[in-house]
Amino acid sequence: MKTTSGANKASIFLRKGLHELARHRPATALALLRKSVELIPPSCESELSKALYWLSIALLRMDQRDLAVKSLANAQKLRRQSYARKFYVRNVNEYGMIKRPTKELDDLYAFVSIQLSSYLLKRSNHRFGSEAEHSAVLKLILETWKRLKESDEFKNLECGEKLSIFRKLKIDFPNFSAYTAGLRYGERQMLHATIDNGRTCFCGSGLPHMQCCGRVRGLAEL
Ligand SMILES: [Zn+2]
Repeated sequence: MKTTSGANKASIFLRKGLHELARHRPATALALLRKSVELIPPSCESELSKALYWLSIALLRMDQRDLAVKSLANAQKLRRQSYARKFYVRNVNEYGMIKRPTKELDDLYAFVSIQLSSYLLKRSNHRFGSEAEHSAVLKLILETWKRLKESDEFKNLECGEKLSIFRKLKIDFPNFSAYTAGLRYGERQMLHATIDNGRTCFCGSGLPHMQCCGRVRGLAEL
C-alpha cells in the first residue's frame, strides 16, 4: 500500500518536473525530479532509470556536470537498452566525464578532478579551509599540469596511460596537509583497481571500465 502511494507520488513529481523542464525552469525541475528519484522503490528499475535520466538533464541545464554524469551513469546501468545509455555513451569522454570541446580540455579536467579530489579527501569535511588555500592548491595543480602536458612522452600516450599517470602523480602541497601512510595505502589500492583501464568493465555493463565503474569522479561526488 505504502509502496503504491510512494510510486504514485513519484510519478506525479516526475510529470511536474518534466513540465518545469519544458518551461525552462531547471532549478524547480531539479527539486521535483530529486523528490521523484527518492520516492521510486529501487525495484522499479525502469521508472528509476527514467527519473534519473531526466534528473541528469536538469543537472546539465544547471551546469552541474559532475552530478549530471553520476545520475546518467546510474540511469544507464539500470536499463541498458535505453535512451539513457545512448545519451551517456554519446556525451561522456574516455574518462567517464562529460565531454569538453577538445581532447586537451578532457585531459585537463580529468587531471584537475583527480588531483583536487586526492587533496580534499585528506582535509576535514573534504573542504578547503580558505579561499587562499583553494587558489594556492589550484595554482600548483595547474603548474604541474602545464609541465606534464608539455612533455613529449605525454603527448603520445593513450587515455588509459594518461589516467594511470594522473592517479600516480603526487603533488607536494606545502604547509596545507601531510600525507598519512594509511591514505597512501588507500590510494595504491585505488590505482590497482583501475589498472586495466581500457578493458570492458568487470560489472558486465559492456562499457569500457574507464567509462563505467572506473570513471573519474567529479568533486561534487566527494
Ligand atoms: Zn562497471
